[in-house]
Amino acid sequence: MMTMQCFQSDQIVLINDAVAMAEELVSNHYKLSATQWLRRKYDVRTAADLSPGEIITGPFAQVIRYEGRKTTVALNSEAFDFYKICLQDHAILEALERSPALRLFPFSLYIITHELIHIVRFTKFLQSFVATDSERLLEEIRVHDKTHEILEPVRVPDMTAVFDFYARWRDEFDSLRDPA
Ligand SMILES: [Zn+2]
Repeated sequence: MMTMQCFQSDQIVLINDAVAMAEELVSNHYKLSATQWLRRKYDVRTAADLSPGEIITGPFAQVIRYEGRKTTVALNSEAFDFYKICLQDHAILEALERSPALRLFPFSLYIITHELIHIVRFTKFLQSFVATDSERLLEEIRVHDKTHEILEPVRVPDMTAVFDFYARWRDEFDSLRDPA
């Protein structure tokens, strides 16, 4: 079996910075209050922490929805959704090799911002996690447009190359599923 490429430790540092920045941008954009805050609703994992079933070929990320249960209030536990953003190191690194203008920080910032927008839209019931192919395609276009809208004014270096890139690779962008 071929060994898939994984992020190195210096790349993981950039990914963590991108997660922090994406979370702040998306929370501010949607004016999420402390109780609505994204942090307890998702987790971002890279190849080092993924099980074989969470690794896929093609997309840059896969979002898996789990059902959690709050246990803070006895007798009144409330079901909630928890999302795991599984970054696909190998696909992201391959894209960086294919497209020399792409840089890891702006590219991963784009990917994570995009996935967080999906999650906010699921949690606000603006979009159902279970959707038909045509609904999903429309949602992808909306989420790409929203990602662009949020990141455009931020002026992160080399972001233009990312905007150019995703316009061409839109179809392979991500995968959304419930656990098998
Ligand atoms: Zn998407």
